[in-house]
Amino acid sequence: MPFVNRRCARPGCGRPATATLSYVYAQRTVWLDDLRAEDSPANHDLCGHHGDRTNAPRGWELRDRRSVGPVHQLRYAG
Ligand SMILES: [Zn+2]
Repeated sequence: MPFVNRRCARPGCGRPATATLSYVYAQRTVWLDDLRAEDSPANHDLCGHHGDRTNAPRGWELRDRRSVGPVHQLRYAG
């Protein structure tokens, strides 16, 4: 696993990305995975904080496949 140095895609965040968000339109499913090595314009990299706060659009399903799960021990104001 090569070292991946990308940042969270949320404006004004800048934390290191730990998860990759991808939208599968045919299945109306949002996948939240561990950060992928390849950088694709179709994916969105997120930090753990914003990964936990991600919600699926109306009528879509969010599936969290991250190995670490939600980051319960870390809470940030705002
Ligand atoms: Zn973030």
